[in-house]
Amino acid sequence: MSKMRTILLVIRTNLMMMMMTTTLKKNGFPCRRRSASLMETLFECPSLLFFFKSCLQALLAICAVCSSTCLVAINNIRGSLAMFKTTCRHGHIKEWYSQPMSGCMALSNLLGGGASAILFSGCSSVKAINMLKSVNIMTFSKRTFRHIQNAYLLPTVNLMRERQQSSLLEVVQGKQLTVGGDARCCSPGHTAKYGSYTVMNLKDSQILDTQLVQVTEVKNSHAMELEGLKRCLALLQRKGVTMKNIVTDRHSQIKKFLRETHKDLCHWFDVWHVAKGIKNQLLALSKKAGCEAVFKKVAVHHQSHLLVSSIKQREQ
Ligand SMILES: [Zn+2]
Repeated sequence: MSKMRTILLVIRTNLMMMMMTTTLKKNGFPCRRRSASLMETLFECPSLLFFFKSCLQALLAICAVCSSTCLVAINNIRGSLAMFKTTCRHGHIKEWYSQPMSGCMALSNLLGGGASAILFSGCSSVKAINMLKSVNIMTFSKRTFRHIQNAYLLPTVNLMRERQQSSLLEVVQGKQLTVGGDARCCSPGHTAKYGSYTVMNLKDSQILDTQLVQVTEVKNSHAMELEGLKRCLALLQRKGVTMKNIVTDRHSQIKKFLRETHKDLCHWFDVWHVAKGIKNQLLALSKKAGCEAVFKKVAVHHQSHLLVSSIKQREQ
């Protein structure tokens, strides 16, 4: 949990830097001075508070110059940003924004309580926005969320991932790695649209690469796993990473591919998948009359045997 919080904090920091660089440059502000003060403001006071509009109006109804009563008007509302204008009877006019701005972007639309909070917490954007609107909290539209997501959030996540991957691959340069790979699809069965393939360094459990494959790029959903593995291996080879062993499940296409095109790579099967295969066979057998009692005992013992023998072999 603490690791996740650290990751989110780093993403948020990168996001702020990236967003400020792009928007400030675009709007022609003196970047360094303004972004530094903005960063200080955000890190000194990162908490957000929700106010009732009437309470805020009562607070702003006193002139800061002459302490007389002001007329408070909402000039504009942009997402979660409210822009107030106060005018007192002596003619003192003040404009007040409910949150810091970076160029034309209200920061709460992007950061806490905004698009990044929705995306990084894993919430459905539609549900989150509907919830805010149902309790009458001013927020942005779904269209604005998509724009912020595409313009700032996803590029920042990609940038961070690329940086992290580059530093990981630099560390493993020149080593003979033992990696494990497996795929995950967006839905079970034969109807998956997307599949991701992940390759992990088994020594330190670091993810070296993840590739996303869409079913339209290959002939069917079963072929996504092999395509993902091919892309991962190609990228690792391009980056100069050397592998000695690879552990995968018993996917027939992968077995053939590794046997024919990566003869120098020692291919191992994941013991969990082997045990699962045998368990399924035993399960089918147990459905026959007189074999029910045998199944559980044999399956458990067999899995334990596979696990212990696999560990012993690895230690040797
Ligand atoms: Zn006044």
